[in-house]
Amino acid sequence: MEEQQEFKIATILAEILDGNNDCSTILDAEFEEEEEYQQTSSAYAKINAMMANLAMSRAQETGRDFKTVLEETQLKIHLKLGEIMAKTIHPGLQVLTKIVVDEEEEEEEPICGICQDEMKAEDDVRAMACKHAFHGQCIFKWLDKKMVCPLCRFCPMQTQE
Ligand SMILES: [Zn+2]
Ligand SMILES: [Zn+2]
Repeated sequence: MEEQQEFKIATILAEILDGNNDCSTILDAEFEEEEEYQQTSSAYAKINAMMANLAMSRAQETGRDFKTVLEETQLKIHLKLGEIMAKTIHPGLQVLTKIVVDEEEEEEEPICGICQDEMKAEDDVRAMACKHAFHGQCIFKWLDKKMVCPLCRFCPMQTQE
């Protein structure tokens, strides 16, 4: 029952992290949008309250010191968070490099080899080790099915060893 509660809190934490994509954003507490910061910090406040509630009921049940139980509970939740996040890391993230399209430099905007649309500077563009580049969302979907470059059949997994 309480294990479930830990898991629930860890899942919410994972969702917050996922919503921000980049974990370092949260760690630095630097947000582009004030609103985004507000939302995230109120979500964290909720999580802190949930952790404290859980620790409080545990401390009362066992007659142990609240602070110690709270630290223990937080640690357990973060371990669970680690397990959850490990599963959500896309294998593509390990084999793709994020690149920025330089619109000034290129005469024509490069074309994504999957959707045939232009790749613009503001797009999330990812390149494989074979130097072929695609929209992040296009290549992630592709790599879910096949772990090869859609253009040259280069297999990133074979060269990783
Ligand atoms: Zn595309
Ligand atoms: Zn390729």
